[in-house]
Amino acid sequence: GTGARTWVYDFSEGSKDQRDLLGGKGANLAEMTNLGLPVPPGFTITTDACRYYLEHGSTPPELADQVTEHLRTLEQAMGKTLGDADDPLLVSVRSGAAASMPGMMETVLNVGLNDDSVQGLARQSGSERFAWDSYRRLIQMFGKTVLGIDGELFEHALDEVKAEQGTELDLDLDAGHLADVVRRFKAIVAEQCGRDFPMDPREQMDMAINAVFDSWNSDRAVIYRRRERIPSDAGTAVNVCAMVFGNLGEDSGTGVAFTRDPGSGAQGVYGDYLQNAQGEDVVAGIRNTVPLADLEAIDRSAYEELMQTMSRLESHYRDLCDIEFTIERNKLWMLQTRVGKRTAGAAFVIATQLVDEGLIDMDEAVRRVTGDQLAQLMFPRFVSGGDAQQLTQGMNASPGAAVGKAVFSSEEAVAWEKRGEAVVLVRRETNPDDLSGMIAAQGVLTSRGGKTSHAAVVARGMGKTCVCGAEELQVDTKNRQFTAPDGTVVREGDVISIDGSTGKVWLGEVPVEPSSVVRYFEGELDPDAEDADDLVRSVHRILAHADEVRRLGVRTNADTPEDSARARRFGAEGIGLCRTEHMFLGDRRQLVEKLILAEGDDERQAALDALEPLQKQDFLEIFEAMDGLPVTVRLLDPPLHEFLPDLTELSVRVAVAEAKGHADEGTLRLLTAVRRLHESNPMLGLRGVRLGLVVPGLFAMQVRAIAEAASECREAGGDPRPEIMIPLVGAVQELEAIREESEQVLADVCESHGVDVRALIGTMIEVPRAALTADEIAPSAEFFSFGTNDLTQMTWGFSRDDVEAAFFHAYLDKGIFGVSPFESLDREGVGRLVEIAVEGGRRARPELKLGVCGEHGGDPDSVHFFHAVGLDYVSCSPFRVPVARLEAARAAL
Ligand code: PEP
Ligand code: MG
Repeated sequence: GTGARTWVYDFSEGSKDQRDLLGGKGANLAEMTNLGLPVPPGFTITTDACRYYLEHGSTPPELADQVTEHLRTLEQAMGKTLGDADDPLLVSVRSGAAASMPGMMETVLNVGLNDDSVQGLARQSGSERFAWDSYRRLIQMFGKTVLGIDGELFEHALDEVKAEQGTELDLDLDAGHLADVVRRFKAIVAEQCGRDFPMDPREQMDMAINAVFDSWNSDRAVIYRRRERIPSDAGTAVNVCAMVFGNLGEDSGTGVAFTRDPGSGAQGVYGDYLQNAQGEDVVAGIRNTVPLADLEAIDRSAYEELMQTMSRLESHYRDLCDIEFTIERNKLWMLQTRVGKRTAGAAFVIATQLVDEGLIDMDEAVRRVTGDQLAQLMFPRFVSGGDAQQLTQGMNASPGAAVGKAVFSSEEAVAWEKRGEAVVLVRRETNPDDLSGMIAAQGVLTSRGGKTSHAAVVARGMGKTCVCGAEELQVDTKNRQFTAPDGTVVREGDVISIDGSTGKVWLGEVPVEPSSVVRYFEGELDPDAEDADDLVRSVHRILAHADEVRRLGVRTNADTPEDSARARRFGAEGIGLCRTEHMFLGDRRQLVEKLILAEGDDERQAALDALEPLQKQDFLEIFEAMDGLPVTVRLLDPPLHEFLPDLTELSVRVAVAEAKGHADEGTLRLLTAVRRLHESNPMLGLRGVRLGLVVPGLFAMQVRAIAEAASECREAGGDPRPEIMIPLVGAVQELEAIREESEQVLADVCESHGVDVRALIGTMIEVPRAALTADEIAPSAEFFSFGTNDLTQMTWGFSRDDVEAAFFHAYLDKGIFGVSPFESLDREGVGRLVEIAVEGGRRARPELKLGVCGEHGGDPDSVHFFHAVGLDYVSCSPFRVPVARLEAARAAL
């Protein structure tokens, strides 16, 4: 009638493009049916019907009639009637959502069997045992999934019968024993439900369909969806399909197969076969399967048909497919196919193989791989667990595999590394002073802090393995040891292994292999060499194509010559953020202390004069490494307290000294200054441009060092391209003040050297007010770079340093966000501010250069956003550079 909705589709009516409506399984069964492949007939009840059911608590009124109609078509195709006493049609009722949710929802097989039709099945199949076994399987599955009976009750009853027969094997039970099992199962149903197992085949089918709908909201499905970020209101489709049997004898069987090796991508089919068995037997691993190749000897014609079918599927889907099939009395049936999951390495290899086979083009190859897969390929890997003892599992903060001797301070890490020892730095938590130790160590292990803790962020930036928040470990840095939950004490010098991809920590050495992809990026492996491996060759081809199609530039965040050079090898087109703060730590910290404590201009100038040549040298080396490419130097930004001694520690020191009657003048002065500068939330305190405005001469000194370094570089025949970036600006007036001062310094240096060193002057946009007033700021800035770390912090009001440990896990659990906004850009909020600033900035200054240098610059999803809003470039840590190149291309396609 008019307006009546279609809730049911025959397999011959759908296609693979209807996943949302028919679910993945239904859409692919339809596709195979229309390809003329041997799929048992059946129909699909749509996800729409499921959503209706979940909303109304009952099925749509038209559903029953539509099911009847499609069931009739199915019965005609099979020449049998559902549950017929003489020759029953049996069906399977299976779930199948649009997104793959393996094993999360329900399936009921052998629907249509009852006390009468079991006799008919026995006659038709010629096997009483088979018929009674099928019947007991139905009651067991139906009882558990449809009627909600505890599955163990059935298992116990089955075990009892086996025990009475003195066996442990199902196969030793004959038809009579299985009929006895059926009697006991039916008694369990009656006792548990207060009603008999339904004998009406259609009632069985309808109940099974509703049970599949209900299983959408089972606990495990809900948890799985939350973790995989699958929408909770999508619903599942239900596939009703004629049963075929792989357990009718030695001429029957069942198997799973891939059209290529999903582990390596190697060509050639790959799979397992199990003779005289049904699908669940393979999954349950009850009996041993044989390699698919053995099927050729068992059943040559079925094997050949299977091979043809698989090659047909691959060229049709133009991708690796995985399949499930059954052979019933030498006849092949296809039960399922889908584009198969694969490892990261296989994804790259298969993509270029398909290009070479003419099935896809290079654009499509770039779409077929992801930045996350590339990132996975760049980490060294543990080969296997070996016999090392696992101590605990923390948070997987920065992937990779690190083995080394445990050390408990940054100084020790540096000293041991100098002696040629591989070390793992173990700390309760890290702070900026640990940087040198982190650089020296193979990896970092902390017992506190989450994935945005200092250790995690810095480690990811360096591509250094890090496990953080391993709370079960008691780290005692004073005694240089930690204690594992089982009481094992690990002392300085003991070898440990940490896996930054899983968070696992072992005592002892787990063997590691380096990443061939990184060796290729480093220039150590030639992709064109005869013996180059397939993976390296594929990565090379795909990234070369990515560079041709992307619009976004890719720069790096680097503040050492070594990182700059490496990023350049990895494809960076300049530096988007050179943080100058670490240039003030270590030995230079005393100079900074002097600067802060300076009384009067002379003392201050002396401190600045001492710092300037050191700064100049830093910049010189970086300009050389990035010769011909832009280098954005950010003037000093960190909160002041990072340069000053800890207040509590200093107070204690003074108190002790006073008690002994010899507190010295210098320490007392330091204490007074530290007290005066102490801030309860230093992230919102005296940092960035505020510091530049409050400490006279500081920014001018940095600008002079930049200009002097650039001049020298130029005089030596180089091509330095400095850009000066002012952090934490919220109002154009702040920028203006620093800008004037900087321009003056630049002019002075140019004049004294007689060279024309141009430097763009721009600002970070990382305070919400700056984003909102971008049109006022742009006339004073030649470029904007979005500092999305601070912008996220200030937009959400989340402290970058504390939030993970404090409450992020609760937010993630409750689904307030699926991923931390510090990891992946919050498009609606922070992203909105970025859009406003892009629009305002470009309106006021059309040629304004726009980039981003927060952590998000290397996050795949965020890269797509930055492409869409029209930034000129993203900047990220050296190890993320290839990832950003790839994702920028995927965003452009
Ligand atoms: C930012 O805030 O996004 C940024 C890049 O600066 P930092 O992380 O150094 O504060
Ligand atoms: Mg910042």
